[in-house]
Amino acid sequence: MSFFKVNENCNGCLACVQNCPAGALNHFDQEDKRKILHNMSLCARCGHCWRVCPQDAIEFKELLTGRFDLVTTLDLVHCKVCGEPVFTTSLGDSVSKNTPKSVEPLCPDHKGSEPVAVWKKLASKRASQ
Ligand code: SF4
Ligand code: SF4
Repeated sequence: MSFFKVNENCNGCLACVQNCPAGALNHFDQEDKRKILHNMSLCARCGHCWRVCPQDAIEFKELLTGRFDLVTTLDLVHCKVCGEPVFTTSLGDSVSKNTPKSVEPLCPDHKGSEPVAVWKKLASKRASQ
């Protein structure tokens, strides 16, 4: 993932690297390739690289978007009564490993419904005896 993007106009002149006040840009030449590096944690988003680039090659808007990038995707377990998502499969597995009973997939609204349903079943059984 990189917020610093250059387009096909970049000719590797290094004006951006040499003029970055934050040391967020660097480069290395290896065999027949020049690589330009950007460190987002050092970048001040000052736009100086964009201003000095003679080629209009830096897509500075990428540095300003502050967008969210997808980090991971996990499977969800849903409430068995209403279908609301309650926790992830991996969280349920890790909690179940540490408890004698497996964790019931119930949302806060339906957490109480399980004991009540059991109690009602028992009560109707006793009444019929
Ligand atoms: S100043 Fe522009 S053309 Fe020069 S290396 Fe940086 S991005 Fe490429
Ligand atoms: S925005 Fe500023 S700090 Fe970030 S790479 Fe460009 S010149 Fe360096």
